[in-house]
Amino acid sequence: MTRNWLHEARALDDTDRLKGFRCRFHLPKDGIYMDGNSLGLASVDALKALERAAEEWRTRGIGGWLEAAPDWFTYGERIGAAMAPLVGAHPDEVVMTGSTTSNLHTLAATFYAPEGERRKILADELNFPSDLYALESQIRMKGGDPARDLLLARSADGRTLEEDDLIGMMDETVALALLPGVLYRSGQLLDIRRLTRAAHERGVMIGFDCAHSVGSVPHALHDDDADFAFWCSYKHLNGGPGAPAGLFVNRRHFGRTPGLAGWFGYVKERQFDMSISFEHARSAGGWQMGTPCVLSAASLDGALKLFNEAGIVEVREKSLALTGFLIEMVDERLFPLGFEVGTPRKPERRGGHVAVEHAEAWRICCALKKKGIVPDFRPPRVIRLAPVALYNTFEDVERTVAALETIVKGREYEAFSAEREAVS
Ligand SMILES: *Cc1c(COP(=O)(O)O)cnc(C)c1O
Repeated sequence: MTRNWLHEARALDDTDRLKGFRCRFHLPKDGIYMDGNSLGLASVDALKALERAAEEWRTRGIGGWLEAAPDWFTYGERIGAAMAPLVGAHPDEVVMTGSTTSNLHTLAATFYAPEGERRKILADELNFPSDLYALESQIRMKGGDPARDLLLARSADGRTLEEDDLIGMMDETVALALLPGVLYRSGQLLDIRRLTRAAHERGVMIGFDCAHSVGSVPHALHDDDADFAFWCSYKHLNGGPGAPAGLFVNRRHFGRTPGLAGWFGYVKERQFDMSISFEHARSAGGWQMGTPCVLSAASLDGALKLFNEAGIVEVREKSLALTGFLIEMVDERLFPLGFEVGTPRKPERRGGHVAVEHAEAWRICCALKKKGIVPDFRPPRVIRLAPVALYNTFEDVERTVAALETIVKGREYEAFSAEREAVS
């Protein structure tokens, strides 16, 4: 008997404990948004917080720094504390500031200390390119040569990494390892605890880029003993385009001098003494550089409320059910049409999105968009689909698969050009 997928989807939606959150987001009118791993949707809460901050600017001017509620002066620390439960950190171990890439820069400048034979940074060839550009420039700034000092772990299948290979590369020439929590293309989830333990046993400092895992996967950064981590807030966290990024520093390291210092990292009570000798706050806040963007800090503040109401454990549970349902349908309905799942199948090995691969991926994405379904494309052959726990339904997932089926069976993608756009 063939399965009635739509019927199954609706039954799953009926019993979904998070279904009440969907109406708090601004969803596309006649479409399906499956791209929350690139830019999460706006919520009523985020926009309300943003409008409140704009109003405070309108009515208070400079007074907003201390008189706004919450005050702007400590906004980065406050949303850091609200963020902490999502990543398993103490409230003072997280600050929201800068961008993913600028946070990597200040953290690498702090934790990459080449000495004697230990001069290399271990990363991987599947990492988001911005991270590799940043690491190369950090190596150059410390007098090294990226061709020699940036070690890139290779992937055997072009999709995933093996922890054993990564650990095998952590030898006495490696000073720092920087690895992803979830790989941005395949969605593979790495074992942060195991990698951290192995790194520390070998005298290697280790940090994680959690841009693709935060907001869909719970973390235990403190208990896992990561030295540092960073992530963006506009993907699964729905903070808004360019909202302040996350920065985690393990308490053990609060005494270290921030690599790229600035006055917003000064001990808060004395920041306005304007002393010319730098004294950084003994918290993640010490790693801030300059004045925070208050407006986007506010939208992030509003967006985080939804997570703290829903709970990251519940978010993860629904996210796995959604991606599991999607994987099952790709295997059963789309595999005969040339599609393949590029994401690890085991729940403990995958994050919040699924890489659906096809030789015609780009043109299929164009055809999906024409139907009002928003995916994203990563070259050469990956369609990334992120059914998001807080605002997508099982029915959204079923309808997306049904659309993919129609597009390929009817060769609808042939109507589109192979030329790619600047942002995909
Ligand atoms: C999205 C993403 C970034 C983006 O960096 P920005 O500085 O926010 O532009 C960096 N690294 C990874 C792994 C990402 O997924």
